[in-house]
Amino acid sequence: SSGYNLLRDPRYNKGLAFTEKERDVHYLRGLLPPAVIPQELQEKRLMQSLRRYEVPLNKYVALMELEERNERLFYKLLIDNVEELLPIVYTPTVGEACQKYGSIFKRPQGLYISLKEKGRILEVLKNWPERKIQVIVVTDGERILGLGDLGYQGMGIPVGKLALYTALGGVRPSACLPITIDVGTNNEQLLKDEFYIGLRQKRATGKKHYDFLDEFMKAVKQNYGEKVLVQYEDFANHNAFELLAKYDTTHLVFNDDIQGTAAVVLAGLVASLKLLGGSLADHTFLFFGAGEAGTGIAELIALAISKKTNALVEEARKNIWLVDSKGLIVNARKESLQAHKKPWAHEHEPVNNLLDTIKAIKPAAIIGTSGVGKTFTKEVIEAMASINKRPLIMALSNPTAQSECTAEEAYTWSEGRAVFASGSPFPPVEYNNKLHIPSQANNCYIFPGFGFGLVMAGAVRVHNDMLLAASEALASQVTEEHYGKGMIYPPFGNIRKISAHIAANVAAKGYELGVATRLPQPADLVKYAESCMYTPNYRSYR
Ligand code: NAP
Ligand code: MN
Repeated sequence: SSGYNLLRDPRYNKGLAFTEKERDVHYLRGLLPPAVIPQELQEKRLMQSLRRYEVPLNKYVALMELEERNERLFYKLLIDNVEELLPIVYTPTVGEACQKYGSIFKRPQGLYISLKEKGRILEVLKNWPERKIQVIVVTDGERILGLGDLGYQGMGIPVGKLALYTALGGVRPSACLPITIDVGTNNEQLLKDEFYIGLRQKRATGKKHYDFLDEFMKAVKQNYGEKVLVQYEDFANHNAFELLAKYDTTHLVFNDDIQGTAAVVLAGLVASLKLLGGSLADHTFLFFGAGEAGTGIAELIALAISKKTNALVEEARKNIWLVDSKGLIVNARKESLQAHKKPWAHEHEPVNNLLDTIKAIKPAAIIGTSGVGKTFTKEVIEAMASINKRPLIMALSNPTAQSECTAEEAYTWSEGRAVFASGSPFPPVEYNNKLHIPSQANNCYIFPGFGFGLVMAGAVRVHNDMLLAASEALASQVTEEHYGKGMIYPPFGNIRKISAHIAANVAAKGYELGVATRLPQPADLVKYAESCMYTPNYRSYR
């Protein structure tokens, strides 16, 4: 019976790759066809069959099934074909998977904590089979990508993010725990859907939400200790800022939408200076969207400038402007602004459309973080191109339909002068006989290496200086060759190496700040990071 179980345990199953000897020793004779197929050949065969699917969602389902069947093969595929498969397990396809989660759902993934479990969260955590958890990604499904409230169906996000923690960052799969907290949903369509698998009630808010999250955070610390990283993902901003502020002094917490995005985008901005000229402090930045992403990035830019120039952060904020759904954030609106926006209210007359704002502010860069697609119109890009020799256009909203503009639009409307990056991937564009390679300014450059660095150093707190360290490490991986093609991020093909550098820089900062507990500090942190990374090659079973 042990052979039969071996084939059904995704952590150990190797399928036809079990050797003759293993088949003898582990009672596998007769349970497998006679052929012995090594991992490389299995990989080749699977990639061929994946490529036959035309619909990306079908590729997603096939990959998830592979993960449930043979974990190492799943990660081998993901690592070796990262550029091809990232858009499937991550944005944009993961967004579609979340929207249709009810109908593609076969087996529960991750841990599901609903209000029904109130008062018993610790018990729920103990039902998870793994004891040694290093990274938890948790959502309450209220703001999934730019798609809004998807309730329990947001589970696709923690699952996808943790797959990247392993594939891109090297955290062992068994040390990763995806969690969706279900406090209900305000999505009417889901509430009416007979196949909806989450709690069928309106979202709990206020004290109820707060207390439930508090029970969760306490249970996590009690069960896993204080070195477990809790990554908040896709919480709506009315909870996200508060959660982060509340727990960052007592837990190892990280909000990817606020902090991860900030580190990634700052790296791209720093790299873009090679193409734009000048320093961060010389340029004016305009954000379209003043939520988690917008204000998170803006805050980190200001911090970076103040460190570089020895100016006060308040001073450094002055060249950074934000627009929200009510227009430019200006002093006259200060009273009624949410806390995260207040620092960005500068003296200016009210302006309530993007084009006029650009004409008034004359930014070097526009950064789209509103979740509203098609908002960088032809007029907007043309205005940017008339102000700047190389206008920097960042269309960060995900997934693709939410993108502020496409790569092709940015290049065409700026007559090939735009430096362009987007949250979801776009293919290269040929314009006037020149090939323009758009960059993907996506969190997945940072969070896997960032989290791995924290885990590797045994960090107990996240500090903003660690975000700067991660950002610097990423920007340093962009080479002259990349700049030549207009890129401001390195290609994903090298992501494990990039992650090792990020992890090392983050860990080094952790040691410097005295929040790292893994002692003594390894002499060469990059080498150490590489040596700790999970690799998905099969092991032999004796
Ligand atoms: P959020 O906290 O909800 O913030 C959205 C912001 O956009 C709010 O300030 C909102 O204004 C503003 N907004 C909404 N509609 C607008 C409109 N028509 N005109 C102007 N502003 C408008 O969301 P978030 O977490 O920042 O995420 C926003 C988007 O960024 C999502 O699509 C997400 O996928 C994307 N994102 C991308 C990355 C990446 O790696 N590329 C990382 C994180 C997030 P009010 O404040 O007035 O409501
Ligand atoms: Mn997110």
